[in-house]
Amino acid sequence: MVVAGSKKVLIVEDEKDILHLVKMYLDKEGFRTLTAANGVEALRQVRSEHPDLVILDLMLPEIDGLEVCKKLRLTPQTSMLPIIMLTAKSEESDTVVGLELGADDYVTKPFSPRGLVARIKALFRRLDRANDRDISAYRYGSLNLNLSRHEVTVDGREVMLTAKEFGLLEHLLRNPGRVLTRDVLLNSVWGYDYHGTTRTVDVHVRRIKQKLPLLNDAILSVKSLGYKLREQGLNA
Ligand code: CA
Repeated sequence: MVVAGSKKVLIVEDEKDILHLVKMYLDKEGFRTLTAANGVEALRQVRSEHPDLVILDLMLPEIDGLEVCKKLRLTPQTSMLPIIMLTAKSEESDTVVGLELGADDYVTKPFSPRGLVARIKALFRRLDRANDRDISAYRYGSLNLNLSRHEVTVDGREVMLTAKEFGLLEHLLRNPGRVLTRDVLLNSVWGYDYHGTTRTVDVHVRRIKQKLPLLNDAILSVKSLGYKLREQGLNA
């Protein structure tokens, strides 16, 4: 269950009416709300207030929503911050770019505030589940990754991975549908004191795909950011 009161949501929107409407609904639902009317202010608020989620309008003065999203993803402290993008129907091609740049979900204007609240709660639920998961194995199609046995099988046959390939795959399976930047992957799998380059991640992803061809289309390269595992193949 989502305890709205414990979550802080930053609403970034330059249209005052929409901003107030969304804020009113979120306040009513018990969320703590922050607001910003442009991209610069949004980035400042994120740095100082550490929100749990950002509702980010695409068309903003100064720095637009895509740029804000990209900046947040490329900053280590905010690279995993949940983002829901607000877009107009006519901006649908930008929406795709937004998702590629790491937004977790998007809502198309005009939207019902109630619908937006539902999406926010769904996203929090999804993320809480991922965090709480004390999982010993992941299944993705016919692939099985067993943590305690440190073993990957496809259709029951073992596929030998190196420790780093295994760690990388585990991290992708743990965060389906989320953009993981090369820095995040480097830090989680190689550790903070590793001084290799982000190219290392690319090399290892390529090797994983060579050894596990069923993941060829499942691990998506996200332009200039990192990688994302398609959610579709994940068996709960
Ligand atoms: Ca706008």
